[in-house]
Amino acid sequence: MKSLDDLKGLIRSIPDFPKPGILFRDITTLIGHGDGFADAVAHLEQRVQQVDGEAIAGIEARGFIFGAAVAAGLRLPFLQIRKPGKLPVPVLAIDYALEYGTDTLEIDPGSVPSAGKVVLIDDLIATGGTATAATELLVRAGATIDHALFVIDLPDLGGAERLRAKGLSVDALMGFPGH
Ligand code: AMP
Repeated sequence: MKSLDDLKGLIRSIPDFPKPGILFRDITTLIGHGDGFADAVAHLEQRVQQVDGEAIAGIEARGFIFGAAVAAGLRLPFLQIRKPGKLPVPVLAIDYALEYGTDTLEIDPGSVPSAGKVVLIDDLIATGGTATAATELLVRAGATIDHALFVIDLPDLGGAERLRAKGLSVDALMGFPGH
């Protein structure tokens, strides 16, 4: 299995996307590498097993790529946390602040198991706004969630600390210091 350093080497960094000053950490080159993608998923699976995860929640869209693969690999249920207007049933929704404006996430409350630990998976945690909102949504939908897992952490943006302050344990395969 590829080392975490090898996997980190498969992340492409694009300056000034989507706007000046942002260094975009792009998973395209990781998931475009067959062994790299499979081994990233295998590392995530190990960590889900270490915390006895019993269901996986993924955040649309890039959280679906990793979360769904992990869920299928471990034969666990996969819960979709979606952008607004996509689910065909009554939803629970949460609005959260972005740097400019707000965004919304939705979940089908009927998709949430009444028992068992849910592990949240996304590709990257930056400020933690998205993951914090997703966690809050899961809790409102009745989930037991105390662990969040990411491929990439940008530690200097404080998101992981923000989630930890809410009582979650937070784990990532790799970190990129700096902004
Ligand atoms: P945040 O809510 O600030 O933690 O942002 C997390 C979401 O925005 C993740 O779902 C990422 O996909 C995306 N994101 C934020 N910053 C970056 C970055 N520097 N490179 C790539 N994706 C990012």
